[in-house]
Amino acid sequence: MQSNLFPSDSPNKTASLFAEIVFDRPLDQAFTYAVSEQLIDQIEVGKRVRVPFGRGDRTTVGYCVGLTDEPPGRSVKEIVAVLDDEALLTDSLLRLTRWMADYYLCGWGQVLNAVVPAAARDQAGLVKRAFVEAVPEAELASPIVNLPPKQLAILKALREANQPIEAQRIKRQLQVTDAPLKALLQRGLIRQARRRIEKLSQAEPHADYPPIQLNEEQRTAWEAIAPFVQRGEFRSFLLHGVTGSGKTEVYLRAIEEVIRQGKQAIVLVPEISLTPQTVQRFSGRFGEVAVLHSHLGDADRGSHWRRVFQGKVQVVVGARSAVFAPTRNLGLIVIDEEHESSFKQDTTPRYHGRDVAVMRARLENVPILLGSATPSLESWYNTSRGAYTLLSLSKRVMDRPLPPVHLLDLRHQPLRRGRPSALSDALVYAMQQALDQGGQVILLLNRRGFATHIHCPSCGHVEACRFCDLAMTYHKLKDLMLCHHCGYEQEPLKKCSQCGRSAVRYQGLGTEKLEVEIQERFPGRTVARMDSDTMRKPGSHARTLAAFRRGEIQILLGTQMIAKGLDFPNVTLVGVVNADVALHMPDFRSSERTFQLLSQVAGRAGRGSNGGRVLIQTFNPEHPCIAHVVTHDYVAFVQSELAHRREYQYPPFQRLARVVVRARQPQQAADFADQLAKAFETGLQTLRQQGPAEVRLLGPAEAAVFRLKGVYRYHFQLQSPSPGTLHKLLRLVRPMLTPPSGVEFVVDIDPVNML
Ligand code: ADP
Ligand code: ZN
Repeated sequence: MQSNLFPSDSPNKTASLFAEIVFDRPLDQAFTYAVSEQLIDQIEVGKRVRVPFGRGDRTTVGYCVGLTDEPPGRSVKEIVAVLDDEALLTDSLLRLTRWMADYYLCGWGQVLNAVVPAAARDQAGLVKRAFVEAVPEAELASPIVNLPPKQLAILKALREANQPIEAQRIKRQLQVTDAPLKALLQRGLIRQARRRIEKLSQAEPHADYPPIQLNEEQRTAWEAIAPFVQRGEFRSFLLHGVTGSGKTEVYLRAIEEVIRQGKQAIVLVPEISLTPQTVQRFSGRFGEVAVLHSHLGDADRGSHWRRVFQGKVQVVVGARSAVFAPTRNLGLIVIDEEHESSFKQDTTPRYHGRDVAVMRARLENVPILLGSATPSLESWYNTSRGAYTLLSLSKRVMDRPLPPVHLLDLRHQPLRRGRPSALSDALVYAMQQALDQGGQVILLLNRRGFATHIHCPSCGHVEACRFCDLAMTYHKLKDLMLCHHCGYEQEPLKKCSQCGRSAVRYQGLGTEKLEVEIQERFPGRTVARMDSDTMRKPGSHARTLAAFRRGEIQILLGTQMIAKGLDFPNVTLVGVVNADVALHMPDFRSSERTFQLLSQVAGRAGRGSNGGRVLIQTFNPEHPCIAHVVTHDYVAFVQSELAHRREYQYPPFQRLARVVVRARQPQQAADFADQLAKAFETGLQTLRQQGPAEVRLLGPAEAAVFRLKGVYRYHFQLQSPSPGTLHKLLRLVRPMLTPPSGVEFVVDIDPVNML
């Protein structure tokens, strides 16, 4: 503040350039800094800088998001250093991230930090190497020099090369040691340069995937998209195609056109379907493809990122965060399985990859193609109100039928050895038959572990996690009780922890127990289990699928991991062990999720010429979300579900925001939730004075899982037909109160996780 009183002491009185800097903090504004003479050549929008910031002026890393020569009218601090050689962000990514900060109500710097992978920031994947080159001035001064032979050989080689060469390479090629190089350096005839060079791990070889003649429905879909790809014009398309209808071929056709134009395409797929099979469809058609996913090492991620940035690759395939791929010449975005909830990020910034992708397409004026056999209700609704264009593939390729689906009513299931069996007789019989005919079987059970609850027959107590209000699951191989939410582990109990009277019972069926039962019932068949316990090691997912493809595995059982995207022609039976797992979750999307999961897994059957069928075990055969799977009737399901959503004012008819208050002390959480409720009241009054504002506020209420990972949570739910109204209200309320230390206040716009 001193410098304000004595302007002549101001460190930046001569500065003619000022930078706008944002930080990885929940702050709305950017901060202005002066750029000193020495840094003028280095500073650029999109680079990171080190600046004094906050209490005690600690140097902090921030992103430069703007430059101006307009003095801010007050003294400002100076940038200490510019950290990047090259800007990490394109203009369009800057605009997109600015929008995200506004829409998701978080700091711009927080968004940038999530968007630029650490690997790119740290220049991972680049190795620093010593280079040497001939000094041109020395060559002009004395073209011919008298030197010992080794030095002469090096000098000649470098002068001929006329560019820096790696020192190691020169030494290897000319069979010399460091000594002659050092001598030349001392004579000033050559000089050293350190350079970063790219280290790319060996790309996987890709088998050719030649183009397929589009069928009529595929061609119609492509012809609708084509003009937008050719002109470069924004439009959102929803490609609703039943499982096995050849949606990917439509994506590939569109990307082909993008490549022809010399532009780039981004393809987003759910992390779990980022299998070699998926990637090879793209690399087999187009050659080099940049793959971005969370298992990549930093070095590989960094080099893929850079190759996209430099325009060296035209096709990017990746999970959620690939929506930020730094393409400078975007021509198209594709989102496969657009209904997947994994496109939503559940940490700050809490963005939805699909919605961000649509915004990016709009900002860069390119078409976007969303595909699914079971589109989200949001996207479907968008087609009916004209925001998206609907394209349909109603039939499977090659006139293959959709598999017949039968329900097995578990309410009338006889006991096996006095207990309910995992598999009904009808399912066992169908499995036997399929296997005898040389087919393969996929079994879905969306619950991992051995026993899914541990309870006391005397007092009824269910063993719960010490940190969460959730039941513990018993894992037999580890011989541990595990909490699936926080990872807390405990030795298995013999006696009830509550009353101590009885031995506890291990009940409920998980994939681990199912595996044992299947091995017992199908001796001599190879069974593989795919869930997050068995698929921990990178590459194990791909290995299991490859073995299944080769027919080395006859029965593949697993969680939702096996439900998606797999194209195995020899699967003639799909069994669903318990369709009701997710049906009764306290979440307004539980029906939608159940319908999607069942339809997706059913779609794995009958993809080859041998046909196939689906058996679904359920206690709720009449529930619409299960009944409509039998008839493969997405539209009928959507109509019944939309009616509910309209009645209860849920998305897609209303926009939702969720506010969660979290604290380790339940009282602290409750107190702050009460204050927040009052602030919402005041905020609503203010808002309504400004004009009509349709907002419904629910809460505070305990979250469905009140205590999670040792943290107590209250939540509010805000509903409004307009997202703008929700934003206004939240912007009014936020500055009204600061959570005390130990209390957190989280805003989630368009929430997906309601627990
Ligand atoms: P979806 O993603 O819609 O479930 P896929 O794109 O996986 O379907 O296609 C299923 C299979 O059909 C793939 O093996 C693909 O190679 C094949 N296929 C796609 N289009 C055609 C076509 N026009 N003619 C013949 N086979 C096709
Ligand atoms: Zn827990």
